[in-house]
Amino acid sequence: MSRAYNFCAGPAALPEPVLRQARDEMLDWRGTGMSVMEMSHRGDEFVEIAETAERDFRELAGVSDDYAVLFMQGGASSQFATLPLNLLGKKATADYVDTGIWSGKAIDEASRYGQINVVASSKSSGYRTVPDPSGWATSADAAYLHYTPNETIGGLEFDFVPDSGSVPLVADMSSTILSRHLDVSKFGLIYAGAQKNIGPSGLVVVIIRKDLLGKARAETPTMMNYQVMADNGSMYNTPATYSWYLAGLVFQWLKAEGGVAAMEQANRRKSEKLYGFIDDNGFYANPIEPRFRSWMNVPFTLADEALNGLFLKGADERGLLNLKGHRSVGGMRASIYNAMPEAGVDALIGYMADFAKEHG
Ligand code: PMP
Repeated sequence: MSRAYNFCAGPAALPEPVLRQARDEMLDWRGTGMSVMEMSHRGDEFVEIAETAERDFRELAGVSDDYAVLFMQGGASSQFATLPLNLLGKKATADYVDTGIWSGKAIDEASRYGQINVVASSKSSGYRTVPDPSGWATSADAAYLHYTPNETIGGLEFDFVPDSGSVPLVADMSSTILSRHLDVSKFGLIYAGAQKNIGPSGLVVVIIRKDLLGKARAETPTMMNYQVMADNGSMYNTPATYSWYLAGLVFQWLKAEGGVAAMEQANRRKSEKLYGFIDDNGFYANPIEPRFRSWMNVPFTLADEALNGLFLKGADERGLLNLKGHRSVGGMRASIYNAMPEAGVDALIGYMADFAKEHG
């Protein structure tokens, strides 16, 4: 059996060497006679796996000791509530930038817990651009400023890190974490669902500046309390052990591949190739203002929507999977995270060129 190129937005393709290693270690992790799935999370073996994963992640993402790294559960969506419960503290408001579906969900959920100011929105442009930060109506008194560096569904990506002054900056990096260089020191908190660039779904990695711990509201569920998670090494309860282990294998793979610097180069090249082809070929189009086009998620439409089904069927036959756009926006979307090799992008472009020649 040969592996297909999987362009799914998440759960997304994992590096093949990681899957092979997981397979090889499935029944017997390093002579212990146990699968990682069967180990006590408090046993020496798993504690080593967990600590190694955190160390590697810190090294890859450049996370200093000023920050705690948490391996939590419930995906990025649970953070939409966990964040305001922990960080609003005594402050009345938090600021949010609205750039699409995911920031919208974060805003809706946070609004259940406090007054949320939407300081800027690109809704009127159909979320084709990032609002100019000079016009953001931020407040120096906000508990934090939240934004979504990459809107996974819209394919809209910030090409700058907002300056939030003394207000802690918070980012949902679900679809960009570890895909390029990151200056963590600019952030108060970063969270990222794992199922794109880290590992299996369900797991969510949180990087939190330590001075922001300990501010949770009294009614915050224990499992959502960052301080409790930090105090217990993310093991207040039974963590998602197998996902944590797989994330650790992905981190090792990333290090062997040259870390985020190598990923940044490859990701830039892959996305430039794909957008370049789309722009040059009149049959396809991408609606996003070029400066803010996502490196990770490339939505595109066909000149004739009636051909969408045929396009997807032909793609499947060539082993180019999950190219259908999100149900809310239609069209196509190619997600090309770290684990997508350049050969996969080349294969996609080859197919798109053939299809356009035949049907254009
Ligand atoms: N934020 C962003 C930017 C996402 O892309 C996603 C998932 N695609 C989520 C949040 C939600 O993640 P989860 O399904 O892990 O809750």
